[in-house]
Amino acid sequence: MPDVEFRNIVKRFGSLTVLENLNLKIADGEFLVLLGPSGCGKTTLLNMLAGLQETSDGTIAIGDRDVTDLDPKDRGLAMVFQSYALYPTKTVKGNLLFGLSAQKLDKAEMQRRVEWASKLLQIDALLDRKPAQLSGGQRQRVAIGRALVKNVDVFLFDEPLSNLDAKLRTEMRLEIKRLHNELKKTIVFVTHDQIEAMTMATRIAVMNGGVIQQIGTPDEIYERPKNLFVASFIGSPA
Ligand code: ADP
Repeated sequence: MPDVEFRNIVKRFGSLTVLENLNLKIADGEFLVLLGPSGCGKTTLLNMLAGLQETSDGTIAIGDRDVTDLDPKDRGLAMVFQSYALYPTKTVKGNLLFGLSAQKLDKAEMQRRVEWASKLLQIDALLDRKPAQLSGGQRQRVAIGRALVKNVDVFLFDEPLSNLDAKLRTEMRLEIKRLHNELKKTIVFVTHDQIEAMTMATRIAVMNGGVIQQIGTPDEIYERPKNLFVASFIGSPA
């Protein structure tokens, strides 16, 4: 499985510089959380890794491949969005199959992937339903399933739990952590929620104003915040 590496990333929107010379290396199988307040550049960074936004400068590598200019579908990753982005007219099964439409697989393999992912996410009894017939938590599971079926090494999550109520949020945190423990895939997870970051991450990159202020394990960040911003954002005692 590959590392992910951002090298000297710059991102500008017109005269606004959102990211200035950002460097970040994410190890194989790591659960890396990008944590920071709204507007600090987390989603922009994730979108550039996914290939949904271009970099202004710098390079992005996955393993030994420079993916900076690659088409999103050729990057070997899958993304789960905050909005779920499910197709309302397709069934759960149709939505899962849609996740595979860019890959050239035979029918039997597609069927196997759908069965595997739906069992893993406990949505195998819901395959014939439409999204409108599902609860919020079930929709979220389908959105994750659509990424899982792709069988890639790197999964990107953009604030996937922020539309759920507190109880479901806790449940889905545990669920995503369980999937990570079982599958050992690399996860890059964007959130502004400190508790989410502290409970899920193997490492947290705390961002503010387009800069990574500190990167470390949840314990390191909590026990030894590097500056006042990190201390106050994490709510640690320093
Ligand atoms: P976060 O995910 O941390 O909330 P974003 O990455 O969405 O932050 O945004 C970072 C900054 O870039 C913000 O100031 C935002 O207004 C700006 N920004 C994001 N997308 C665009 C865009 N398409 N055009 C102009 N500015 C943008």
